[in-house]
Amino acid sequence: MILGGTTEARELGLALSQRDFATTISLAGRTVAPAAQPVPVRRGGFGGVDGLAEFLRADQVDFLIDATHPYAQTISANAAAAAARTNTPLLGLRRPPWTAVDGDAWIDVAGSEEAVRALGSGSRRVFLAVGRQELVPFNSAPQHHYVVRSVDPVEPPLAAPNVHYILARGPFTENGDRALLESFAIDAVVAKNSGGEATYGKIAAARSLGIPVFMFKRPAVPEVPSVTTVAEAVAWLDHAVGLAADSAEARTVRRGV
Ligand code: NAP
Repeated sequence: MILGGTTEARELGLALSQRDFATTISLAGRTVAPAAQPVPVRRGGFGGVDGLAEFLRADQVDFLIDATHPYAQTISANAAAAAARTNTPLLGLRRPPWTAVDGDAWIDVAGSEEAVRALGSGSRRVFLAVGRQELVPFNSAPQHHYVVRSVDPVEPPLAAPNVHYILARGPFTENGDRALLESFAIDAVVAKNSGGEATYGKIAAARSLGIPVFMFKRPAVPEVPSVTTVAEAVAWLDHAVGLAADSAEARTVRRGV
């Protein structure tokens, strides 16, 4: 089972659908119309570590791949705990973070509250690209003009008076995001360090326009065996399946069958 909600989870699902794996992708169910998935999907929370452990047992999951977003901290912690409890081999498919390059003006912040403080008391024009869950603290800084981009509508809308909403689903390009930042005269970007290419456009665009990025630090997630690419995840699974087959064969030989 792949814990998903990311491009990598979808790509891994596709790769495994072309091989001899019975794969399920698990989605939290936050997005109203999620992107089509290449393998069967289950939706909704499991009910914490206990629920996930029970699911792994009941569904006889042989391998668990945590391919969730780097900021999905709770489910990654739950996956590590439930896998340990049920002896289910777990692999993290973790997107490496972006690193700042010449011309980037990044200000590290822990999250929305710190971003609000760092933006200061003057009025700014802010592009908020942090996901719907993280928006509420920006109500406490109503002096700014905000542009919010999200896949689904922000419900309830922010209480701040000057908010422009854009509904869009990535991937986004640098050119497209530069045009967007320019058309709204944005002077600050607030973002997560998601890694990958699909949402890097705004970071490159901010660099080219000399706009600072208030970048959320990545949350800590449990140390588990991890890879960074779909190809490595497939190789890990092939290897793990081979090991499981070898030990089943060894058990058969020991029993003299
Ligand atoms: P989270 O805070 O780590 O998880 C909160 C709860 O949501 C979990 O305890 C679990 O509920 C449920 N959950 C999360 N991911 C799940 C999954 N793949 N399958 C089943 N249940 C899941 O998660 P989040 O940050 O809200 O992210 C939710 C989903 O959106 C994830 O699939 C993630 O990959 C995707 N996503 C997140 C971000 C982001 O910035 N956080 C960005 C893009 C995509 P129970 O405890 O009841 O099991």
